[in-house]
Amino acid sequence: MTIIAFIGLGNMGGGMAANLARAGHGVRAFDLSQDAVNKAALAGCVAASSTLDALKDAEVVITMLPAGGHVCGIYLGSDGIIENIQSGALLIDCSTIDIDSARAVIDAAQAKGHDMVDAPVSGGVAAAAAGTLTFMVGGTKPAFSKAKTYLAHMGKNIFHAGAAGNGQVAKVCNNMLLGIHMIGTCEAFALAEKLGLDAQTFYDISSTASGQNWSMTSYCPAPGPVANAPSNNDYKAGFSAAMMLKDLRLAGEAASAAKAATPLGAQAEALYALMEASGKDDLDFSGIMKLINGTL
Ligand code: NAD
Repeated sequence: MTIIAFIGLGNMGGGMAANLARAGHGVRAFDLSQDAVNKAALAGCVAASSTLDALKDAEVVITMLPAGGHVCGIYLGSDGIIENIQSGALLIDCSTIDIDSARAVIDAAQAKGHDMVDAPVSGGVAAAAAGTLTFMVGGTKPAFSKAKTYLAHMGKNIFHAGAAGNGQVAKVCNNMLLGIHMIGTCEAFALAEKLGLDAQTFYDISSTASGQNWSMTSYCPAPGPVANAPSNNDYKAGFSAAMMLKDLRLAGEAASAAKAATPLGAQAEALYALMEASGKDDLDFSGIMKLINGTL
């Protein structure tokens, strides 16, 4: 059994911490929300009263926080995790954040003698609860090997993406592509309908032709063809448009810094920003269908 401090027990972190406790680890859990801490305690974690309290005796720290500012805030500085965790600890940040912050925090951890990886995830709340997440991990090979032991209790696919920050690179590039092919899929279904071709017939043809893609076959944005897709449940989020916009903005910032041309990524960001401006970004990201077909 390893003592693990787990900070950030929201939609994703709650399920992940519970899976580590279920695997027999001593999980010291903290979140700014007392409700979230109470839920974690019911799932077998030990309730901690602060981040510093969670760090007591911990050999491993896992964080699952909203954005780069939260991650820098909690790791850096004299009252941060890096200064206050026992030496030689393993630090794993699973949040989706900007690449520069991820690299800066890992550099600071290594300067103090701690191993640290960035390990953002793919898969939503259901995968976090079921322990079937995909992890994209950046960091040294030894740090990756150590982290894999713990990540294996929370996920089924664990990839080493390369040096520090490369987990975030894989994450934003993948989600930029996802946003783009979701919007393209919406356009195709909306056009087919306007031209007199119903969604199921178009799906049957295109899903076995060259237009086939994940947004179509696993998550079809047109109601009907894929039974468990959010489009058949009033676009209630799985993965919200707000989350997609966050990831597209991270991709856009990274592209600007690297002087990479991502014209379709930029267009996808602009369209998801329209969902935000309409106050509809709590819908699933496939709900961009409503923007495309004029029903938002
Ligand atoms: P969430 O908002 O539900 O949870 C974040 C938690 O962090 C909250 O409970 C909040 O109280 C806590 N928190 C914030 N600052 C804190 C601090 N200083 N100390 C302690 N707790 C603090 O978010 P989520 O949906 O769980 O997402 C977490 C991360 O995972 C994000 O970076 C997100 O982009 C990424 N992600 C989410 C999904 C998804 O489907 N929800 C999928 C893949 C990746």
